[in-house]
Amino acid sequence: MTESELAARHRAVLPDWLALYYREPIEIVRASGRRVTDAAGRTYLDFFAGILTNAIGYDVAEISDAVRAQLDTGVLHTSTLYLIRKQVELAEQIARLSGIPGAKVFFTNSGTEANETALMIATQYRRSNQILALRNSYHGRAFGTVAITGNRGWSASSLSPVKVSYVHGGYRYRDAFGALSDEDYIKACTEDLRDVLETTTSGDVAALIAEPIQGVGGFNVPPDGLFAAFKEILDAYGILLISDEVQTGWGRTGEHFWGMQAHGVTADAMTFAKGLGNGLAIGGVVARGDVMDSITANSISTFGGNPIATAGAKATLDYLLDNDLQSNAAKLGNHLMAGLRELAERHDIVGDVRGKGLMIGVELVEAGGSGIPAPSPSLAAAVLEETRARGLLVGKGGLYNNVIRLAPPMTLTHEEADEALEILGASIAAVREGTK
Ligand code: PMP
Repeated sequence: MTESELAARHRAVLPDWLALYYREPIEIVRASGRRVTDAAGRTYLDFFAGILTNAIGYDVAEISDAVRAQLDTGVLHTSTLYLIRKQVELAEQIARLSGIPGAKVFFTNSGTEANETALMIATQYRRSNQILALRNSYHGRAFGTVAITGNRGWSASSLSPVKVSYVHGGYRYRDAFGALSDEDYIKACTEDLRDVLETTTSGDVAALIAEPIQGVGGFNVPPDGLFAAFKEILDAYGILLISDEVQTGWGRTGEHFWGMQAHGVTADAMTFAKGLGNGLAIGGVVARGDVMDSITANSISTFGGNPIATAGAKATLDYLLDNDLQSNAAKLGNHLMAGLRELAERHDIVGDVRGKGLMIGVELVEAGGSGIPAPSPSLAAAVLEETRARGLLVGKGGLYNNVIRLAPPMTLTHEEADEALEILGASIAAVREGTK
């Protein structure tokens, strides 16, 4: 059966809103290092890494061994009602790394569930269902997390279990305050936060949730210090700060282990998923103990923290730390950014290059050099097809679906970074040529 036959069967039986990348969708059947191979035998350099799930590359012996050792016991899962050694060890490690005093950890199977849990504990703790979120945010695909998602393309349901107010500070490139200096931008966002609090909420808000760098929203980097300025206001009201670290955690941003650390603040709760499992389904919340324990009734997750996922995640985290992949992310992120900024000078359809570490967004704009950012979803789709044809997988995103997202495994090498830069350059040139 060919990939296109499988794609037809996929479309017939899976929902329309489960979108597939590429005119002719890819089925990946093998993977090693930073490369994946499709059913037709074509190999690609993977610069989207399963939407940032693959933190340390494919087919890593340390991870396979840890998972295999657990498989060999015969215990894939019994119940989270029993003790699970790796769950306890992993929780201790994450609590320590979080920097949150008296932290406790609850494991889930996804980022969505992690954020649902964070919403539940924050609203319980504060006895309020009012939430502040950032415009253009993405926090998941369940009832509560869709409600706090401020990106129209992903607001799958308009029915909300929480009362949400959105504030500025996410998508600076197209933000009304975007042209301001860092300092003035922070001031404008802070005034907006205060205004929203005073005018659209009753004041007793449970939490502000934010991605330190918006992921789905297009890898948008706010100025360092924004969340410190927010936290000062939040503290005055007793409002909790939840950092959604689903994409920014585990050192991917290069300069820090958690994205929120760039702002010099410690969140009251952080949510995580994706990279921790290096492909295995695991997520969770790490929060202040008093906030976590605001739930007093039983609440378990059948699979959250299961033996296989926690064995793989523990091995992944150890690998990340032992090999200082955060430093590699910083070094190669800087190299990629420099190369992409050169590309931007050569091509008028590159409107913005932004990011930190191995989380880099290239925002495409309409041709013509007017300097006016224009939504161009078809350009991004065309670049994706071109890069694929040249053997590179990248992501797409942003409010207008016009941002190329680069997020390779953090084990990336210098040679692979150069290979990606070359392919991107050729692909963007080809697409620009096509607009003439
Ligand atoms: N938060 C953020 C910042 C995310 O990027 C995502 C996934 N793209 C989620 C939450 C939801 O995670 P999951 O898809 O694992 O439910």
